Amino acid sequence: MHHLTVSLAQRSYPILIERGLLHRPELLRAQIKGRHVLIVSDQHVAPLYLDAVRAGLADLVVECCVIPAGEREKNLDRFGQLMHMLAAMKASRDVTLIALGGGVIGDLTGFAAACWMRGVRFIQIPTTLLAMVDSSVGGKTAVDLPQGKNLVGAFHQPATVLIDTDTLATLPAREVRAGLAEVVKYGAIFDAEFFAWLEQHAESLLALDPGVIAEAIARSCQHKAEVVARDETEQGDRALLNFGHTFGHAIETADGYGGLLHGEAVAVGMLLAADLSAHLGLATQAEFERLGQLLQCLQLPTRVPDGLQASELLRHMRLDKKNVSGQIRLILWRALGQAFVAPGVEETEILRCLERGGA
Ligand code: NAD
Ligand code: MG
Repeated sequence: MHHLTVSLAQRSYPILIERGLLHRPELLRAQIKGRHVLIVSDQHVAPLYLDAVRAGLADLVVECCVIPAGEREKNLDRFGQLMHMLAAMKASRDVTLIALGGGVIGDLTGFAAACWMRGVRFIQIPTTLLAMVDSSVGGKTAVDLPQGKNLVGAFHQPATVLIDTDTLATLPAREVRAGLAEVVKYGAIFDAEFFAWLEQHAESLLALDPGVIAEAIARSCQHKAEVVARDETEQGDRALLNFGHTFGHAIETADGYGGLLHGEAVAVGMLLAADLSAHLGLATQAEFERLGQLLQCLQLPTRVPDGLQASELLRHMRLDKKNVSGQIRLILWRALGQAFVAPGVEETEILRCLERGGA
């Protein structure tokens, strides 16, 4: 078992990573303090894993809320539904919410836990690779508005994160690859040695080799845990986790959220950031090529999709949340494993990078 800690003084919490964790009900049971539990899941995940989670909680008052799958459900109506369920349960401040699913379920459940009686315990049981390495750790919770993603939210840390890597066996292969893009991101930003390890294990990662995938998840969570411990509310360092994301979000938005998955757009975005870094003389062309090769080995896209105009992508980038006083703020790298915040890159350079379009 990999056992990590997110160190946040009295709000510190463990991340447990192991095969078959869902069949160790005592681990979950030990994390529950009161008598009431609300489990939130979606219609893809619940038929596969809800019974296993419920099995260990037979002595408690347990309600389940199973919603349709997909980003569109991460909204205020679903949030309201959870509030009404908690009220109907007469849930007190010692209720525990459990998020069983991907990042959509984790973000929605976490936000509900942040708001019910101004904040109650919640447990993350992530079942997508993206949720395991990224969204379940760090306490960002939110729902979307029609006007934009994650506009209503709170920082609220989970009480624990339980990662059963066996749940990845049922995840569609494309979702696995999209999650691997976020794994590569940690190497690209912080850790050239981890990046080299990923190069050596690309095939085993795609095949979900149990030991290799658990190690990749643990090393990713360790990086996320460290950056969150340093900068919980993103005043500084935590922004580095957005490597590839300003480009990626522009691609997702221009594509109308029907094309590339988030992780796929981030893969293209990271390569654009590496290309721009090389053209600005900050890093080498060889490192750009190395990143492109790893992404291709992991069967991830490395080019801006056909039909998306560079000028339109630039327009979306100007609206990014991270921008300060009208300047696009990008995460670039000085070398593989050494990302930094680059304010005020010339828009003409960004436009040329978008026109080159990646690898
Ligand atoms: P998701 O939750 O929509 O899951 C993807 C799909 O996989 C869904 O259809 C789901 O039902 C299905 N699924 C999940 N686990 C499965 C399993 N084990 N077997 C079979 N099917 C399974 O998407 P996601 O990629 O996990 O998360 C995306 C969300 O995460 C976005 O809303 C994003 O904003 C959020 N996010 C949050 C943070 C954060 O820090 N809070 C970070 C990154 C992303
Ligand atoms: Mg991301």
